[in-house]
Amino acid sequence: MVLTFECVCGNQTGLFATGDRDEQGREYLEAEDDDRISWVMGETGMLFKCSFCGHTYRLEKQ
Ligand SMILES: [Zn+2]
Repeated sequence: MVLTFECVCGNQTGLFATGDRDEQGREYLEAEDDDRISWVMGETGMLFKCSFCGHTYRLEKQ
């Protein structure tokens, strides 16, 4: 498990490394259970949405 997502409602899921890499050696991540979380890449960053309660988290682009 590389990252763990835990919502305020208690919904929890992990992101794991798939073993597949891109041409620069960066490994792809996948959600352990994609019924629990969805994410959207936007202009200004990334949104993580909890599929249980609908709470949305925003990660600003660096
Ligand atoms: Zn939630």
